[in-house]
Amino acid sequence: MSAFDFDLFVIGAGSGGVRASRVAAGHGARVAVAEEYRVGGTCVIRGCVPKKMLVYGAHFAEDLHDARRFGWDVPHCALDWAALRDTVLAEVDRLNGLYQQTLDNNKVTTFHERATVTGPQEVTLASGRKVSAERILVATGAWPMVPEFEGAEHGITSNEVFHLDALPKRVVIAGGGYIANEFAGIFNEFGSTVTIVNRSDQILRGYDEQIRDRLLQISMTKGIQFRFNAPFQRIDKTESGALTVHLGSGDPIECDLVLYAIGRKPKSFDIGLETVGVEVDAIGAIKVDEQNRTNVASVYAVGDVTNRVQLTPVAIREGQAFADTVFGNTPRTVDYSCIPSAVFSHPPMAGVGLTESQARNALGTIKVYTSDFRPMKNVLAGRNERGLYKMICDATTDKVVGLHMIGPDAPEILQAAAIAVKAGLTKQDFDDTVALHPSMAEELVLMK
Ligand code: NDP
Repeated sequence: MSAFDFDLFVIGAGSGGVRASRVAAGHGARVAVAEEYRVGGTCVIRGCVPKKMLVYGAHFAEDLHDARRFGWDVPHCALDWAALRDTVLAEVDRLNGLYQQTLDNNKVTTFHERATVTGPQEVTLASGRKVSAERILVATGAWPMVPEFEGAEHGITSNEVFHLDALPKRVVIAGGGYIANEFAGIFNEFGSTVTIVNRSDQILRGYDEQIRDRLLQISMTKGIQFRFNAPFQRIDKTESGALTVHLGSGDPIECDLVLYAIGRKPKSFDIGLETVGVEVDAIGAIKVDEQNRTNVASVYAVGDVTNRVQLTPVAIREGQAFADTVFGNTPRTVDYSCIPSAVFSHPPMAGVGLTESQARNALGTIKVYTSDFRPMKNVLAGRNERGLYKMICDATTDKVVGLHMIGPDAPEILQAAAIAVKAGLTKQDFDDTVALHPSMAEELVLMK
């Protein structure tokens, strides 16, 4: 008989926590998980999944417009935001239920309350109940950062954006990263006037320059406005509810909604880590080794709270590796190389491997191939929007070390191509593959 209530206590039922819980339980461990909000975590409840549904919903604006060029008699159409919002939230409820079912089916005990670490092998629940566990896994994720200045409380974050009562006519988005560009696209398609305000002079730092420049150019053509090198100074709220955003440079902006998308910080605060001496870095990320172990032998961490790569599939892999290693007698580590990622902007962009400048720095001599084309559907629709695919190769080995693209369905195409990049295939291997015609993806094997 174990001296502990559970073999594993997981704090946080998001992507990493749920995977670790169910796999550990499958290996025979007695597992409990605590979740203070809703099972599923950021990705399912207030992130990737509902966001992608809004992206689909928003894209109908272009599809309905373009359909006329394809002969369809489309009457004037208007968006019913409340209908879309409620459909999306209903789907989130369904997924939330499925995640809970997965835990239940695997005999994981769920505590629907906050848990705090109160000892190396003890957590205390919000109800006051103390629970002991041989091991504790922290999988609390990350939390949107909110800036500090006068009137900052008038803005919202991605946590709240899925629940808006009405569509704002004018939106200001702080930040130039993933969330900013994705929601700029969504609101712009819905008909809102959108301004992205960033502290620096670039968007989507870390993505290939040429690809993000193309997104910037297309976004501006679609009517999204950008204010660069413009730090927020103050937000005033008028009696009518409208907001005036004062920036460090240029005129103030009047709007109805301010959305902060300035990054997410690891949610390692207020969960008692300091009481047992778990080390965190300068931004609060829990320090772990490649086996997901913290400096406290019985405490582990996976996912965004460790700030390795803030992406759902990475958290899932870390949760799986942790459970297999500790409870399944199958040591696993996560391979962080060649992780594909995408921005679900309008149009979307996606990439894997090194960008052109990263490859130049790392390899010295490289070859760059591009295909800059107007997708057939855009030609017929009279939409002057070009796709851009870019392949970066090591000049000495011909190996493809990076692939980056912007255009319709880029994330769908890139996921398949990422297998080839991960497998270390060469430009010649791509060229040896017969084109699938007519498609956009055939550009991958026709690059000059
Ligand atoms: P990002 O890290 O993508 O971008 C943050 C942006 O905010 C940058 O433009 C940055 O400017 C700016 N910024 C950073 N700190 C401050 C500050 N203190 N004050 C003002 N501006 C600041 O963050 P997001 O919030 O968009 O997304 C968070 C994370 O969530 C992403 O990094 C990603 O890992 C994940 N995510 C992934 C998605 C996907 O896979 N499609 C979708 C949404 C989120 P600069 O770079 O110019 O310094």
